[in-house]
Formats: sequence, structure tokens, C-alpha cells
Amino acid sequence: MKTIIEQIDLRQMDKETIKKAGDILKSGGLVAFPTETVYGLGADALNEDAAKKIYEAKGRPSDNPLIVHIADMEALDNITEIIPETASSVARKFWPGPLTMIFRKTGAVPLGTTGGLDTVAVRMPKHPAAKEIIRAGGGYIAAPSANTSGRPSPTTAQHVEEDLDGKIDMIVDGGPVEIGVESTILDMTVNPPMILRPGAVTKEMLEDLIGKISVDRTLIEPDSSKAPKAPGMKYRHYAPKAELTVLEGDLLQVIKEINRRAEEKAAEGFKVGIIGTIETVGRYSTGNVKCIGTRQDEMTVAGNLYGILRDFDSEGTDYIFSESFSTGGIGNAVMNRLLKAAGQHLIHV
Ligand code: AMP
Ligand code: MG
Repeated sequence: MKTIIEQIDLRQMDKETIKKAGDILKSGGLVAFPTETVYGLGADALNEDAAKKIYEAKGRPSDNPLIVHIADMEALDNITEIIPETASSVARKFWPGPLTMIFRKTGAVPLGTTGGLDTVAVRMPKHPAAKEIIRAGGGYIAAPSANTSGRPSPTTAQHVEEDLDGKIDMIVDGGPVEIGVESTILDMTVNPPMILRPGAVTKEMLEDLIGKISVDRTLIEPDSSKAPKAPGMKYRHYAPKAELTVLEGDLLQVIKEINRRAEEKAAEGFKVGIIGTIETVGRYSTGNVKCIGTRQDEMTVAGNLYGILRDFDSEGTDYIFSESFSTGGIGNAVMNRLLKAAGQHLIHV
């Protein structure tokens, strides 16, 4: 299959490009497009055969359900059975935006989209191109991250091309995304609502609005033998090919230990990568040192995380050592993805 790649200017979107993307989606094809979180791989969520193509292109396990993306509030009624009042408040405040909510589904949503579950995950993205493409494609677009399953999620159209060129109909290139980690997932079918995946909309932000929120235990104790409630969270995800180790503790001690480990691996002939920050990169002496952002603002770290993991892959890195980050605000989502990429390999120094 030849993949069409088209750039779109977000200040002045080309109607032809949007129409082409919409037509492909309506006829059951696959279109990757930017959202504010990561690039999504879109298909008509109400067409089981189209949804099935997503699993094939990504190599995604079929029990891992897809998030249905909508562009307008009115679209919710057709696909969800009960919308609790708290969900309406959350939607008013955080939609469009980086938040997914889970509801009981109606018969309109095929089980092939929800991985066999009787619930459906729904998000309304804020990204202008995403909105237009969803509308042009019929209003209900299943769109998981547009990467090969298991690889870091794509934050640029080039990342999508690396993984999916020749496997999908079209890539709409809207430049680098704004946030860089996937949406917060909030399960509205339980009381109190439960966070299944941390993202840019934090527990504190949600609690300020609707009161008590619980958190899936497996996010707090990742080693627990219980399966996560979001099926996708059980996979070793977002992972680079290299062995990634995250080190936490007093920052000066962390730097010292990273240098020690990096020197040891380099001496054995391995290609070593280090993830540091503006504040610390000057203190590393061995290996390929990359700056992921500033410790003053974890949004910058979120934005660079997946791109850096992909760069280490393309450079053939064997071992990566990373500093850890504070867990306030979006830092919680960053640490969740970083530790998953590391297969929970966290060292306290
Ligand atoms: P992705 O779109 O690739 O970022 O992944 C979507 C995430 O949402 C995965 O972790 C899924 O397991 C989760 N998810 C989607 N639908 C549901 C649902 N109905 N119930 C629980 N988790 C869901
Ligand atoms: Mg994904």
C-alpha cells in the first residue's frame, strides 16, 4: 500500500486534505493524524472491519480496546448508555482536551472496537486538525497511538512514518504535538471515578471539580499481581530497544551513580545513552547524553520523552540511564511512562 503523506498548516487548514482524510475514514481506511497528546491512528469506530485494520497495522493485541474520538458533545449520546452528572461536569471543564472517560456502551459501538468489553472509552481532542478530521470521517473515530505496538508513541509525523509507512492509507502531518504523553483515562462506570492512566489532567485537577477520585492500584504498586483495569496498561509499553534503567534519590548521588554505570558499560564496549536535564547534562562524562528538558517544568520533559527514546533506538543504543522526575502535575504521567519503558527497572541511590 502506498501511504499518502500530506502536511497541514494549522492556522489555515487545507479543506482538500481534511476531505481526503474524511473520505478514507468513511470508506473504512486508516488515517494517522495529530492530536494534542500524541499522533493517533484513526479508523471509523462504528465499523468493525475498519477497527480491525488498526490492530493489524499496529500489531496490537486484540484484547486492547480503542478510544473513540468525538468532536462534538452531541455525539456522546449515540455511543454511551448512562452519562453520570459528574461526567457532564468533567466534560464541560476538560473537553476538548487530554482526558478520556469510560462509559457503558450502546449497541452502536462494535465489540471489535472495545476489545470485547461492554464499556467504551471516549475522548474529545482539542487539536484543530483532529477535530476537523473526526467530523469529516463521520464523527466517531477510533484512534490509538499511531505507533507499532510496544514502541514509544509518536509525537511527530516522522515517527508515524517510521512505524506505519506502507501499512496505512494516509498520514496528516501537523508538526510536533503539544503535550507528548497520552490522555488521562478516567473510568466513570465506578464510584468514585477511577484513574486508569495518568496524563496531563491530574487527579488534583479532577478532585477540585468533582471530589474523591480513586486510582487503579496497579499504578501505585506496579509489581502487584493484579491486572490493570485498562487492558493496554499491562503491556511493556512505550519501550525502546535498549535496556533502560531509571535512578532516583539525591540528585548529586544519582548523577554520580549514572556516570559510574555508564563508564562500566562503555568499558565493556556497549553503546550507552544518558537522559539528563538542562540543569544536569554538563555533569555527565560518558556516552551519548541527551537533554530531555528542564526540572523546573515537567511539561518540557513530557514533550521530549518519546522522541528521545526513539532517537536512542535509531542510534543503536544498548543501555540507557535516566534521572527520575518529581511526580507532581504531569510529572506523574512522565514517571508512569518512563517506568513502563524501563520495565519498572528503578534503582534507588
Ligand atoms: P492508546 O489509545 O494506544 O493510548 O491506548 C488506549 C488505552 O485505553 C489502553 O490502555 C486501553 O486499554 C484503554 N482503554 C480503552 N478502552 C477501554 C475500556 N473500555 N476500559 C478500560 N480501558 C480502556
Ligand atoms: Mg498506545
